[in-house]
Amino acid sequence: MKQSFAIWELIVRGLEASLTVRGMLAIFTGVVLHELGHILFGRLVRIPITGVVIGEGRRLCGWRMGAITFTIHAIPTSGYVEHAEYHATPLRSAVVAAGGIVVNVAVGIACLAFCLAAEPVGWVGKMLWAIALTHLALAAMSLAPRQYKDGNKSDGLLLLEAWRGFERGNGSTR
Ligand SMILES: [Zn+2]
Repeated sequence: MKQSFAIWELIVRGLEASLTVRGMLAIFTGVVLHELGHILFGRLVRIPITGVVIGEGRRLCGWRMGAITFTIHAIPTSGYVEHAEYHATPLRSAVVAAGGIVVNVAVGIACLAFCLAAEPVGWVGKMLWAIALTHLALAAMSLAPRQYKDGNKSDGLLLLEAWRGFERGNGSTR
């Protein structure tokens, strides 16, 4: 009982640490690693990512790296990846959509486990708490099935659609 209370106290302290500039930094790392997760998983199933857009609002800068165009906007609290038209199977689409969430969950759990086990102190400790909580929150938010105004779909919606396609696919081959 006492032990679990201590953990809650630590989590509250972690939340506190997230509501600062550190929080913005943590969200930025969360968004960037999330999009890199899409690129990585896209590579795995050979769906090339052609563009990575980080943030909303005014465009700050952009550059090209290999076949991928990176663009950074003023409010770096969200992001998305672009890919060329492709005929992906539901499974391959699902892998790409899951990539960002998988990376966020992995980083979030690793940082959370480290914070609970090692109780790091100071700026680094607070930063790790902020990273742990924002990565897990981003993963949860990405899982919600949503269609955005600009036509983009959330990872959750893409996974849901892939799953439905997968079920149909299975049904027709039976
Ligand atoms: Zn995503």
